[in-house]
Amino acid sequence: MATLVLAGAGHAHLPILTNIPEFVRRGHCVTVIGADDFHYYSGMGPGLLSGDYRPEHTRFDVATLTRRGGGTFVRDRVTGIDPGTRKVHTENSGWIDYDVLSCNLGSSVCLPTGEFDKDRVFTVKPIENLDKFRRSVQATDRNLLVVGGGAAGAEIAANLGCWLSGSGHSAHVDLIAGNVFLADFPAGIRHRVERTLDALPVRLHAGERLAKLERGQAILESGLALPYDRALLATGVTPPLLFAEADLPTGQDGGLLVNRFLQAIDHPEIFGGGDCISFADRHLARVGVYAVRQGPVLLRNLLAALEGEQLTPFRPQNHFLLIFNLGRQQGLLRWHSLTWSGRIPFLIKDYIDRRFMQEYQRCGETNQPHSSS
Ligand SMILES: Cc1cc2nc3c(=O)[nH]c(=O)nc-3n(C[C@H](O)[C@H](O)[C@H](O)COP(=O)(O)OP(=O)(O)OC[C@H]3O[C@@H](n4cnc5c(N)ncnc54)[C@H](O)[C@@H]3O)c2cc1C
Repeated sequence: MATLVLAGAGHAHLPILTNIPEFVRRGHCVTVIGADDFHYYSGMGPGLLSGDYRPEHTRFDVATLTRRGGGTFVRDRVTGIDPGTRKVHTENSGWIDYDVLSCNLGSSVCLPTGEFDKDRVFTVKPIENLDKFRRSVQATDRNLLVVGGGAAGAEIAANLGCWLSGSGHSAHVDLIAGNVFLADFPAGIRHRVERTLDALPVRLHAGERLAKLERGQAILESGLALPYDRALLATGVTPPLLFAEADLPTGQDGGLLVNRFLQAIDHPEIFGGGDCISFADRHLARVGVYAVRQGPVLLRNLLAALEGEQLTPFRPQNHFLLIFNLGRQQGLLRWHSLTWSGRIPFLIKDYIDRRFMQEYQRCGETNQPHSSS
């Protein structure tokens, strides 16, 4: 009997969680280590800020899914890997043995320098922070700060702006967009998003970078000081440090270096998917699209690794459909050189996202009361 350990229960592991009964039927033990009983779907995250989606509509009960399938769920954080003895270290549950390990630990946002109140500063990862941020906003707040001029920062500022204007709240959003707002996108997309933000209580600070965050004040590299009541950081994500700390081969950015079978280089018993890996064949953007597409390949390869069978390669697509959620049921779609904005792009995104949720929300999530913790 072999033991499969899943470190993290993110997007790439969802197909494995729903297939735990098959692993068990074949005589394998499955242990899932997850930081939380729930995993939140990033595609619907910005809608948590506008109020279009409620938390229970955007999350998967990964703990119940694991247990119902016959696996063991350990609610804990993975803090280390010892590839030599094939053990995973956790914060509270000690060492856990594996024969085959799969890592889907996501990524995190680095905190800026400076002395600030930690309970007023949130990062966009994990996604449930977006709900926590919204709940933390007080009627007396006047200045909400969003830092980061990429797709996540743009979606967050727009959805936050929609919520503030729709609820009669008198606060506004300052969006610190870095050197170039939406630098990875064509000018047409940038201008459409700028027009959306213009119509909302959002002030775009393009060409400005955050230098440090102090209590109640953001200091920009230009010397400008902006007051803030609460801040949300979307300044880009990095993989966890624990792969480098375990002396596992990593990409330049510290992600677990995997071959086209999503298998760690030099460690055939370790696999990985999603934001925490670096794909050796070519650079992949850290987007949920890849994490989701890697899931079925991981499922096949984990079974194959446990049973000594042939592995299947992951073939990443070169282009993927991108749809921004700009709040108020407005979307902005990009497919190759086509861009399309309005309600229909939003409805397409909403349909795709809800269909994905239906596939993996198998434990009555939408009926479960949401705790504010
Ligand atoms: C606001 C926002 C909107 C986005 N929208 C989109 C979008 O529309 N489309 C798209 O393709 N991409 C989108 N992305 C990118 C997307 O969030 C990521 O690429 C995606 O979440 C990667 O999935 P993942 O499963 O690798 O990681 P995650 O979704 O981060 O999942 C990792 C899981 O591991 C758990 N975990 C983390 N650390 C530990 C630990 N130490 N021990 C145990 N468990 C742990 C976490 O709790 C989580 O459940 C968005 C990102 C943001 C910030």
